[in-house]
Amino acid sequence: MSFLKEIQRRRTFGIISHPDAGKTTLTEKLLLFGGAIQEAGAVKSNKIKKGATSDFMEIERQRGISVATSVLAFEYDGIKINILDTPGHKDFAEDTFRTLTAVDSVIVVIDVAKGVEEQTEKLVEVCRMRNIPMIVFINKLDREGKDAFDLLDEIEQKLGLTVSPLSFPIGMGYDFKGIYNIWEKNINLFSGDSRKNIEETIEVSDLSSPELDELVGEKAANTLREEIELVEGIYPQFNKDDYLKGNLQPVFFGSALNNFGVRELLDCFVEIAPKPRPKQSEERLVEPNEDKFTGFVFKIHANMDPNHRDRLAFVKIVSGKFERNKPYLHVRHNKKLKFSSPNAFFAEKKEIVDVSYPGDIVGLHDTGNFKIGDTLTEGEEINYRGIPSFSPEHFRYINNADPLKSKQLYKGIDQLMDEGVAQLFTLDLNGRKVIGTVGALQYEVIQYRLEHEYGAKCTYENLNVFKACWVEAEDEKSEEYKDFLRVKQRFLAKDKHGQLVFLADSPFSLQMSQQKYPSLKFHFVSEFN
Ligand code: GDP
Repeated sequence: MSFLKEIQRRRTFGIISHPDAGKTTLTEKLLLFGGAIQEAGAVKSNKIKKGATSDFMEIERQRGISVATSVLAFEYDGIKINILDTPGHKDFAEDTFRTLTAVDSVIVVIDVAKGVEEQTEKLVEVCRMRNIPMIVFINKLDREGKDAFDLLDEIEQKLGLTVSPLSFPIGMGYDFKGIYNIWEKNINLFSGDSRKNIEETIEVSDLSSPELDELVGEKAANTLREEIELVEGIYPQFNKDDYLKGNLQPVFFGSALNNFGVRELLDCFVEIAPKPRPKQSEERLVEPNEDKFTGFVFKIHANMDPNHRDRLAFVKIVSGKFERNKPYLHVRHNKKLKFSSPNAFFAEKKEIVDVSYPGDIVGLHDTGNFKIGDTLTEGEEINYRGIPSFSPEHFRYINNADPLKSKQLYKGIDQLMDEGVAQLFTLDLNGRKVIGTVGALQYEVIQYRLEHEYGAKCTYENLNVFKACWVEAEDEKSEEYKDFLRVKQRFLAKDKHGQLVFLADSPFSLQMSQQKYPSLKFHFVSEFN
């Protein structure tokens, strides 16, 4: 197959949702359609379960699973689909944000009863900022839930989306009769039989036909007629260009558990979802069909076996072909590297591959060369950007608890930060190290991994920080900036890249600084220029 055809047939996307909305179940059904797995229950959930085991053991378990589910690839209708895993747990939100830099589109799963939940709001906001095309799947229609119109309203208001329903439910919960597919103009009747994989659909080109009354009963038929009329009156008609620009979001209804409405979603997805998209580097826009390879690291996974300290760096291929054993330039280190065993990912396994194409993800064995955001090329010095750090929510001093192991401790901290487990800040005043995380769970993970993987021990000490902001001065020689550096010295630190960070101890102190130093900008995201 030609290089261009290989690109054209790739679709790389992520499924985002609040935990429990049905992401794992939907993923599994999609894989079933692709023939990538044979039975339901094959895809393990990477959720953090609270319960019998302690949190960090649970995270270790989750880490094991999430290697397997990092990228799930399958073929459907001649299309190569790569699903990138996006943890729903809020403590791992940064992982998900970073993964979103590697997807070309997303499917948003919403629970019909719970509606728009907190994590969905945050993740959709990131997708909106990047104009990532989104399809919405409203799940669990076999259960009693919110009224479809109320839910569409809620999606528009809370998520700031412009929805265009491409299917519509006939009844719900106990009375759920099926789905009218506005996109294909047919009806899919619900039998509640989850064993059935391929549904039979009934063509209904004309909703006024009496056949509809026979199929779903007169009452439901009339309601559907009214509702579809309303849908057509209220919502913009679907338009692929608007969807691709991120201005319009098609909506599907269904039940992942019952494999209902999933085929419709998948069929529409392969038809409309974007092929690998061009990506902006600091220097220029890079097109997927350029003949030279470029790619970037969006995720690093440490080996769980302490005897093998190697890591797997996940690289999204942006342009050209990635070939095994060919030397590539690691731009940040200005060093050529060769990879003898790049991994490609399939449903639940990985294999060594000779060639990968734009849209694909390769897993490269790494002994500590990579950090998140690194660019690989055939020689051109470009840098992909757009993997920002957000202000952490929690801050603690990290102390060395075993003076004989300080080398191990610093190496361990350094590598864990490269993996993006947490952020490190070094205080200007005394050089003390502060670890910032999105969730409190990460402290246990770090402590546990430092001990088991690096043989180092640490303790933590509380530190009162409200937010970390990256400070930008219009003029670094200005009196205002100098005054700020002097007055706030106690609260200033450097991040891992040496950027200046202000660790504000309260909303009040942040606000006062913003007022007192109007020429300075306080950013909550590390990438701002
Ligand atoms: P995730 O956290 O988003 O990955 O959610 P899961 O896929 O693990 O689903 C959470 C729970 O919802 C599980 O118990 C599923 O069996 C259940 N579930 C998923 N889809 C449906 C559905 O369509 N109907 C019903 N009734 N339950 C569902």
